Amino acid sequence: METAHTLRKIDDLERHKLVDASERAGIVSVLEKFSLAVTPHVLGVMNNSDSEGAVAAQFVPSVAELQEHPSESDDPIADVKHSPVAGIIHRYSDRVLLNVIKTCAVYCRYCFRRENVGPGNGGLTPDQLDAAIDYIKNDDQIWEVILSGGDPLTLAPRRLSAVMERLADISHVGVVRIHTRVPSVAPDKITDDVVSALKKHRAVYVVVHVNHADEITPQVAEKFALLADSGIPLMSQSVLLKDINDNATTLTKLFRTLLANRVKPYYLHHGDLAKGTHHFRTSIKRGQEIVRELRGPLSGLCQPHYVLDLPGGHGKVPIGHQYLEQLSSDTYEIDDVFGEKQTYVDTRG
Ligand SMILES: *Cc1c(COP(=O)(O)O)cnc(C)c1O
Ligand code: SF4
Repeated sequence: METAHTLRKIDDLERHKLVDASERAGIVSVLEKFSLAVTPHVLGVMNNSDSEGAVAAQFVPSVAELQEHPSESDDPIADVKHSPVAGIIHRYSDRVLLNVIKTCAVYCRYCFRRENVGPGNGGLTPDQLDAAIDYIKNDDQIWEVILSGGDPLTLAPRRLSAVMERLADISHVGVVRIHTRVPSVAPDKITDDVVSALKKHRAVYVVVHVNHADEITPQVAEKFALLADSGIPLMSQSVLLKDINDNATTLTKLFRTLLANRVKPYYLHHGDLAKGTHHFRTSIKRGQEIVRELRGPLSGLCQPHYVLDLPGGHGKVPIGHQYLEQLSSDTYEIDDVFGEKQTYVDTRG
């Protein structure tokens, strides 16, 4: 039986046979800690996906979330430490995150801000939003503003439009970036009104969060096209997830599908140390192997940066394979993409 409503409760999951009755108590404990939302669109994708649960595992809670690794944290990348005023995270001099809202269309089970997002969290009050905008206005080093999660595209288009207008009025803000999962999980929310709101700033970039090619249904592709045809450059971020996309074949398909839909793969994130997410992480060694396998056979345009967001708020760093080994002051041994070693003489070395 289909429902047009977002699944938010244990009973909804049971009704759709997404969890087993024997797991009920465990799942109830999970839902006490972390929010749940599965949109009707995602439910449809899960049911039609032929890749063994790769979509479902991202959104359907599991009792494994109750296991906490000692290195996991409720603030894995130290957002709190870098928040000068509510809604602003200022880690790098030239750019800030502006988190206007704390709700998302879905709650990804591996989310790095999972203790901070959810329907009970209202987001910024009008006064707090004023203060956040003032913070940006008062620091002319801030060149880029990134609207992030919660998911900014769950804002009503009218509110989004007002925020975009206020950012467009600040002359030192050269670029506005939107980080969103809405196009791939609730495509019906990407309307002409949303596009007009985004277009209030001339240099708006949309970074869509997608982890598996099965998420790019015809309806999702249509929304990517709407955004791209409106002149909005699209990029993607994906999280490397165990048993979901942690192999070269799955990632090749994902990155090709994105690029063919005019979405440039930007980041492949190593899973953050959020509580109860151990079962989603691969080892860095395995991540490096996979990314190395892609380099060569897969178009350079399809290659994202494989990055780790360092715990403690020390920023994102590329953690891919190190191809270069310095042998002497002017000589390097370099791994080529065909699996052989080459020598390179640096004439300026
Ligand atoms: C990820 C992040 C950014 C954006 O970093 P880029 O490397 O420019 O994509 C900016 N600010 C904060 C606080 C972040 O966590
Ligand atoms: S959409 Fe982003 S912020 Fe929201 S739950 Fe998923 S990963 Fe977290």
